[in-house]
This record gives sequence, C-alpha cells and structure tokens, in this order.
Amino acid sequence: MEDNSALLSRKRLSFIIHPSAFIIPPIPYPPSPIPCKLTAMSHEKILIVEDEEEIRELVVYNLGKQGYQAIPAETGEEGLRLVRSEKPDLIVLDLMLPGVDGLEVTRTLKRDPATAAIPLVMLTAKGEETDIVAGLELGADDYLTKPFSPRVLTARIRAVLRRKSEE
Ligand code: CA
Repeated sequence: MEDNSALLSRKRLSFIIHPSAFIIPPIPYPPSPIPCKLTAMSHEKILIVEDEEEIRELVVYNLGKQGYQAIPAETGEEGLRLVRSEKPDLIVLDLMLPGVDGLEVTRTLKRDPATAAIPLVMLTAKGEETDIVAGLELGADDYLTKPFSPRVLTARIRAVLRRKSEE
C-alpha cells in the first residue's frame, strides 16, 4: 500500500514536472525591418572630386574598405552634376582642378540651398594657404594637405560627419 502511494506520488510528480515542460520551443527570428545604426552608417555616400587618378583611386578604395559608398568624379563639372543626382553625405574636393576649380565648386554648392549643408573636406597642395583660407571662409568644414594618409582622411571624414549629425 505504502509502496503504491509512493509510486503514485512519483508518477504524479513526474507528470507535473515532466522534462518536456523545460524545453523551450525555438523562436523563429524574422529579419529585422529596422537596420542597425552600424549598417546605416556604413552606407554613407561620399563623393570624391579629384582629377589625379592615383589619389582618386586611393581615396575611393580606402573609403570603400571603411564601408562608405565612394563615388568618384574627375572634374568640377562632373562633381557638381553628381552632387545633384547622388545627394552625397559628404564631399571630398580637390582644390586644383582643371576647368571649374575646387573653390568655384565650393562657391556654387554653398550658394544653392539644396547643397549648402553638405559637409565638405578640401584636398590641397602645399603652398595653397590662400585657397585654404578662402575655402574655409566659403564654408568648407576641413582640409587636408597632400600628401596625406588615407587613415587621417577617413578620421577627418568621420569627425566632420559626427559634428554634422550633432548639429
Ligand atoms: Ca588636382
């Protein structure tokens, strides 16, 4: 009799806390409709206006490696056209360009309310102090003197984008 009741209570216990009660069925994870911040950041579009192929390709390569969407332009005219069609998040602009030069591109962009707020980092050669001052006064955000390290350029770009997003 005692044995039976013990067996019964064990059976009841095993029924109450059956191991299957602890098995949590796998929850299907649907793809998140909201992209994480890192993904959004990595898709920032940067336009590089530089007539020197070697520098242009170096910058495009390095920005691409950092996860940016780098768009190259060879001339000031092409740069201005791409600003309007691509709406970049930032522009890297060489000042010494054939035809429409960097300062003229800056002036045109800053005059137009549609493009005036796009951050601008100038690329300059040694001895272009007057142009650097003019560019900064026109509203450029930063500059880098050639030859420059791609890592420093990326850091400057990141800093300018961060400043702009905090404004
Ligand atoms: Ca140049």
